Amino acid sequence: MHNISKQARGYELTVSNQEKLHADSIFIALPYHEIIPMFRDDAIFEEIGEIPVASVATVGMIFPKDAIEKDIKGSGFVVSRNEDFSMTACSWIHRKWPHTVPDDKILLRAFVGRRKEESIVDLADKAIEETVLNDLNRIMTINQAPEYTMVTRWRNSIPQYTVGHVQRKEAIFEEFRKAYPGVFAGGASFDGVELSECVRQGKDGMSTVLNYLKGITTQN
Ligand SMILES: Cc1cc2nc3c(=O)[nH]c(=O)nc-3n(C[C@H](O)[C@H](O)[C@H](O)COP(=O)(O)OP(=O)(O)OC[C@H]3O[C@@H](n4cnc5c(N)ncnc54)[C@H](O)[C@@H]3O)c2cc1C
Repeated sequence: MHNISKQARGYELTVSNQEKLHADSIFIALPYHEIIPMFRDDAIFEEIGEIPVASVATVGMIFPKDAIEKDIKGSGFVVSRNEDFSMTACSWIHRKWPHTVPDDKILLRAFVGRRKEESIVDLADKAIEETVLNDLNRIMTINQAPEYTMVTRWRNSIPQYTVGHVQRKEAIFEEFRKAYPGVFAGGASFDGVELSECVRQGKDGMSTVLNYLKGITTQN
């Protein structure tokens, strides 16, 4: 979707092939930095300011089961920002979801990149893999290279709720209420990054849209 423009009744949406659609009500479940340009005639969204986002990469690595000589307990860990590690977290996928990994394999999924430390995401796959393996070998012993590695980059993907987030979010929703009746927003940028929170916001958003539509139908 490229643009949302208010009409005498409802909204005109312009999509990527320039096709135009009409909507009486809209629930926008997009990252906030994608929403701002859709209301390009309204400076208020620029004035409210960004909801910062971080870019991360995941590094999935498969090893034969005997590659790990000294293992750690549990199904993964997160790394504090104060620690001298490049990786920010690692999951033992073969323990977390054993049905997804053959019995004779180990699947580790490490994360790199966080707010203001995102340059690592732009390194070559091999360099990211080496960095993660060096980090892992400081806390366990892996005696061989992975059989297969997949690096996936998730740019601008994790919203950061900095101080003032609640007020910023309320200002955005207030502008929708005042200037764009029938337009609502939800998703990770606003009220919780966890998947379950995003699903809840989607469900609540649909109820809000249906109630709004019932309201305008009754008025007409
Ligand atoms: C690497 C990674 C690992 C994670 N792991 C976990 C986890 O283990 N557990 C957990 O609970 N959460 C996890 N999260 C967080 C969670 O996945 C996200 O917060 C959640 O998926 C966000 O959902 P959303 O619907 O708000 O946004 P998204 O899932 O980002 O959906 C937004 C959609 O909008 C589309 N879009 C963007 N711009 C436009 C446009 N202009 N027009 C039309 N469509 C557009 C995008 O293509 C995308 O499909 C993880 C996130 C990342 C990045």
